[in-house]
Amino acid sequence: MIKIIKTSQELIQLRNSFTTEKVGFVPTMGNLHLGHISLLEKSLKENEVNILSIFVNPKQFGPKEDFSKYPRTLEQDVKKIEGLLAEKFPQKTLYIFAPTDTQEIYPEGFSTNISVGEMANILCGKSRPGHFDGVTTVVYVLFSLVKPHHCYMGEKDFQQVTLIKKMVEDLRLPINIVAMPIVRSPEGLALSSRNGYLNSQQIMEALILPKTLKEIATLIKEKRPLDSINDKIKSILTNKDWDYLEICDQKTLKPSLNYQNIVILGAMKAGPTRLIDNIVIN
Ligand code: AMP
Repeated sequence: MIKIIKTSQELIQLRNSFTTEKVGFVPTMGNLHLGHISLLEKSLKENEVNILSIFVNPKQFGPKEDFSKYPRTLEQDVKKIEGLLAEKFPQKTLYIFAPTDTQEIYPEGFSTNISVGEMANILCGKSRPGHFDGVTTVVYVLFSLVKPHHCYMGEKDFQQVTLIKKMVEDLRLPINIVAMPIVRSPEGLALSSRNGYLNSQQIMEALILPKTLKEIATLIKEKRPLDSINDKIKSILTNKDWDYLEICDQKTLKPSLNYQNIVILGAMKAGPTRLIDNIVIN
């Protein structure tokens, strides 16, 4: 069964009615695909109460970004979730917090900004100033309303989940962040709501991103000299479609010169759309 909640007040009341220590939470911006569904499935498996939020957060979009055209598809999203519940969790209830009014999250006069610091200004933060402050601020507000014990997020947005883990650690929030692996199309493209902006030619171009990450991952696994790997990265980055391609430490996201506990992160443009992807190497 699905119950849709439209206001923060309703959500607070609902949350106060639960005494369980197993509240699972999946924050999203909607337009759900199998990546989102994998997070929801994990939450439903592990928790008694499950809440998914759908909110296209204006604070995380830059002035020239796609906030107004971001796909808002609540009816289809509900159908997809109904399908999952009917097939795998017929006894469970899912609460969908889908505020229709931005004021439910940011009431008149809201002025707080949650910023994790330097880590928010590198990689994607460099070309999207303010983006991650928007993310950490909305997630903090959602955590305050939902009071989850476990929150499920995708490694697709590796920098995002790393920043949320840091916020939770620094602010001593009693929430376990569960990072889930990337779900990909059969061709290897990481699923993303923004893939819907691409035509078939641009999808072919976009596949360069996962292919390149895989090539770099192979060189690292073969323990090729880091200098030669870095030279290869430099030559890839001469192509103007690339925003960044970096080998980073998984925890700090600083450039790493190791072969272990690293993540290869990339961002590039395909047609009008900026895409991100990564490969984790342990
Ligand atoms: P979004 O709706 O894009 O804000 O994403 C909501 C959550 O779904 C975030 O934690 C994302 O990292 C996660 N997510 C998005 N795409 C994927 C994917 N392809 N595989 C796994 N998780 C994903």
